[in-house]
Amino acid sequence: MARTAVITGSTSGIGLAIATAFAKSGANVMLNGFGPEAEIAAIIERLKGFGAGVAYHAADMTKPAEIADLVETAAKTFGTVDVLVNNAGIQHVEKIEDFPIEKWDQIIAINLSSSFHTMRAAIPLMKAKKHGRIINIASAHGLVASPFKAAYVAAKHGIMGLTKTAALELAEFGVTVNAICPGYVLTPLVEKQIPDTARTRGITEEQVKSDVMLKFQPTKEFVSVEEVAATALFLASDEARSITGTHVSIDGGWTAQ
Ligand code: NAD
Repeated sequence: MARTAVITGSTSGIGLAIATAFAKSGANVMLNGFGPEAEIAAIIERLKGFGAGVAYHAADMTKPAEIADLVETAAKTFGTVDVLVNNAGIQHVEKIEDFPIEKWDQIIAINLSSSFHTMRAAIPLMKAKKHGRIINIASAHGLVASPFKAAYVAAKHGIMGLTKTAALELAEFGVTVNAICPGYVLTPLVEKQIPDTARTRGITEEQVKSDVMLKFQPTKEFVSVEEVAATALFLASDEARSITGTHVSIDGGWTAQ
C-alpha cells in the first residue's frame, strides 16, 4: 500500500518540492498552504500525474482545530498518516523593540506551535501502526542566530527541542523524528525578506544577497529546494530508521563556522 505524507505549507517553495518528491516516490500526498485557487488546482493535477493520490486541505497553521482536521482528513482520505512534514513557515525582519507583537505571535504559532498540533494529531496514528516519520523543517536559524529575526530564531530553536522530545517519546514505537536545517534557499519566503533587510540595514538588495545571506554560506550558493526534498525522502526511508532526535544541516557550511 502506498504511504501517505502530510506536508504543511506545500503550495510553495520547499514544501512544494517535498510534496513533489513524495508524489514521485509513489506516496499519497496531503497538500496544505495558501495560494490562488487556480494555482493550487494546477499543483494537484501535476502531482496526480505521478500516479499518487493527492488531496488538499486549507488548514490555517495558526488554528489548532483546523490543524487537527488536516491530519484527520488525511487519515480518512488515505487510510493513515505515515509521514508528517512540518514545513509551513513565515518570516519577519525587524529590531526587537520595533517587532510587532502580532507578528511575534503569528510566527511562533506557524513556525513552532503548528508542529505541536500536527504531531499531537498524527502520533496516535503512527503509534498504532508502530511506524512513522516526522520531519520538521527547521533552519540554520534553529542552531545559530542572526539579528532582526527574533521570532523566527526563537521558533526554530524551539522546534529543535520539540524534535528531540518527540524522538525520545516515540523511540520504541518505530517512529523517528528529525529536523532538517537548511541555510538560505531562494524561495518566495527569502525573496520577500530581501527588501525589508535592505531597508533595515540601509543597503541595496544585491548587497543583501551577497553580503548578508550568502556571507554566512561558505559555498556562496543558495541551497536548492530539491536538495531539501531529497533529504526529507531519505529521512522517511527504512534505511533511516535509526536516525532520530537529530538534525541534518543543508547549509553550505554555514554552521561549521
Ligand atoms: P514559502 O514562503 O515559499 O512557503 C511557505 C509555505 O507555508 C507556503 O505554502 C504558505 O502558503 C504556507 N503558509 C504560510 N502561512 C501559513 C499558514 N498560516 N497556514 C498554512 N500554511 C501557511 O517558504 P519556504 O522558503 O519554502 O519555507 C518553508 C519552510 O522552510 C519554512 O518553515 C522556513 O522557515 C523553512 N526554511 C526556509 C529557508 C529558506 O531559505 N527559504 C531556510 C531554512 C528554513
